[in-house]
This record gives sequence, structure tokens and C-alpha cells, in this order.
Amino acid sequence: MRPSLFRPSSRLSAIGISEILKITGLAAELKRQGRNVIVLGAGEPDFDTPDHVKEAASRATQAGATKYTALDGTPELKAAIRAKFERDNGIAFAQEEITVTAGAKQVLFNAMMATLEPGDEVIIPTPYWVSYADIALIAGGKPILVPCQEANGFRLVADDLARAITSRTRWVMLNSPSNPSGTAYSQADYRPILDVVVDHPHVWLMVDDIYEHIVYDNFRFVTPVEIEPALRDRTLTVNGVSKSYAMTGWRIGYGAGPSALIRAMAVVQSQSTSCPSSVSQAAAVAALNGPQDVVQERCRSFQARRDFVVAALNRIEGISCRVPEGAFYTFAGCAGLIGRTTPGGQRIESDTDFAEYLLRSVGVAVVPGSAFGQGPFFRISYATSDSELKEACARIAYATSRLS
Ligand code: PLP
Repeated sequence: MRPSLFRPSSRLSAIGISEILKITGLAAELKRQGRNVIVLGAGEPDFDTPDHVKEAASRATQAGATKYTALDGTPELKAAIRAKFERDNGIAFAQEEITVTAGAKQVLFNAMMATLEPGDEVIIPTPYWVSYADIALIAGGKPILVPCQEANGFRLVADDLARAITSRTRWVMLNSPSNPSGTAYSQADYRPILDVVVDHPHVWLMVDDIYEHIVYDNFRFVTPVEIEPALRDRTLTVNGVSKSYAMTGWRIGYGAGPSALIRAMAVVQSQSTSCPSSVSQAAAVAALNGPQDVVQERCRSFQARRDFVVAALNRIEGISCRVPEGAFYTFAGCAGLIGRTTPGGQRIESDTDFAEYLLRSVGVAVVPGSAFGQGPFFRISYATSDSELKEACARIAYATSRLS
């Protein structure tokens, strides 16, 4: 056999195939075999982009918005983003403190590429969105995972953060509401954490607010710079239109931070995508400047689904699920099922085994908590129809009742 000519860079060697891909791969295979599979893994709203946003994009195309734009965002979109920060968060950013990218993920990517030296540490509370660690690794950094206990609502404890900080710490990642736990931080939750960061002037904060508008029970969303203006000079606030406005495919994210950081991030962007999509930027202007009631309306639907799923899961013996404050995920514990045996005689040793059992026995795809750095849990995305959620919860209850 001829040796393969392809040799991936060592940069990629630290990034394994995620558990999410394993489960979604198996789900796809079962579907191909004709099985009825309900996938509760989507990281995007099942709603469509609002009509007024689509119409703005059509108009922009007709008006010739089909060329390269300014490197890190059109002046119109930067103005809309600045207005959004003033309206929603009471923070006034200057135009040179704003960057626009192809999705919020690229904000994180540009920032880490622009700042990390080999071995620089990025503190990531777990359970966490896996991209934080993988992007840090690609950029040569070292993810430092800090476990957060369910008993504390999966929130970071300030003392744990203080212990994790070293002279190599460059960034601390914060994400509220969180993917995967749905946990959101109130002002009181944030305060002790921000005090620790204030006390360590070499440490910067990367705050991922992408689920800002998906919060329930009148939870008041806050972002760290709003609470602690002293951290403004070393915080990158990350957000985007993907989740709030059901615009995942349009690929528009944005960041706000010190202008020197924003300029360095623009250098990275200049040699990757050159600029975000012109049409998508026009659409994002319409989303941010247009009527916001559609966001609240959809949030009410998500809340009804959250209430249904959490109640249904908590009725199942062996499963327990805290009530998340936001996002569209539940992160349920399955510790009570570890050690039980499937009708086929297999022992459930981990959340991965449980997720695989659910998929093979009743055709429900959930993501094991270990994919987010914390087991034994599993994540359900309830960004899917009420009827599918009802059917999926009934199947999970049935499959669990057959464990002995
Ligand atoms: N941050 C979190 C916590 C996410 O869950 C996601 C998407 O799943 C993103 C950022 C990425 O958002 P975007 O699609 O705008 O790149």
C-alpha cells in the first residue's frame, strides 16, 4: 500500500473527535437504516429567521451590497451593535471597540489567535462548550478546566477560579446562559468571580453572551462589564445574532473590547475571511435595529418547552434535572442509572453508555455530558417541536424503565 501523502499539522493532533460527533454519526447511520430517530442535539433554534430580516437582506442584494465590506464590519452594523449595547446593557462602546465576524465562534477564534503565546493558559469552567478548548489548542494555548458542581447550579466558584490562576493565565472564559447547562449568572453570582479577576491584572475575560436573550422567569441578564466597569479594559464581550434571531446560517457574530485587541483581531481576520458576508451584515442590521418582540415571543415558546422537558425528566426514576435559567438546553444527571443493566445484558458504566443505549433502543439522540467535560449527565436541546419533545421524553422514560 502506498504511504499516505497527507500529513496533518501537529496543531490538530490535540483535538480529538468529539463525543458529539460520535453520537450524531451513529444517529445518522441508524436513520440511513430506516430507523425513526429523534435528534435532541441541535444547537440552533428551530424557528425561522424573522421575515423583516430576510426582506432587508433581499433589498440589500438588489441595492448592490454584494462586494467586500470593511474588514471587520460595515459602519452601519457597527452602529447597530453599539446601539444594542447601549439599549440592552447600558454600555457605550466606540466604533473602534467593535468587531464583526462570521459568527460568534470567529470572534473567539480571532481573539485567541491574536493573543495566545504557546502554553498560555485559558481557564474554562466545566461543563463547557467544547469549542473554547479546541480553539485555545489550535491557537497554541493550554485549556485549564475548572469543574463546577451541580449543587452550585454549575456555576464557577470564586475560590476555585483563584486557585486555577497562574502567571501563565491569559483568559478566563465565562458563558451565561451556558451551553450546555442553561445556567445563567445573576449580578450576585458574578460579583465574587469578577473580584478575583480584578485582583489579577494580567488576566483577561472572554465573556460569551450569545444566549443573552433566551432567559426565563423574568431572569435579569447581566454582562460583566456592566457590573464591573474596571474590567472593561481587559474584557472581550462576545455576542451575535445566531441564537436570538434564529440566524445561525447567516454567520454574523460580534465582539466588543479594548481597541488594541480589536485591531489585533482584525489582523487575523484580514488573512482568513477578509470580511463577514455583505448580505448577512445588512440582515444583522435589520435584526438588531428592528422590532424585538419576536425575540420575546420565541423565548416564551422555549420556556414552555423547558418546563415540559424538565418536568418529564424529573418524573423518571434515576434521572434528575435542575431548572435552567436560559439557553435551550437541559443538562440532566443520570448518576442514578450508572451500574444498571440493559435488557440486552450490557452494564451502563457512563453517560456515554446511557446515550448510546437510548439511541440504539428507542432512537433518541442526546449528547453525553462527558462531551462537555462533565459526567454523568446528558444534554437535551429542546429547540425542536413540542410533539417530538413529548415523544422523545416518553421514549426515554420507557427505555429507562427497562433497565434493571
Ligand atoms: N457560543 C456558544 C456557547 C455556543 O453554543 C455557540 C453555538 O453553538 C456559539 C458561541 C457560536 O455561535 P455562532 O453560530 O454565532 O458562531
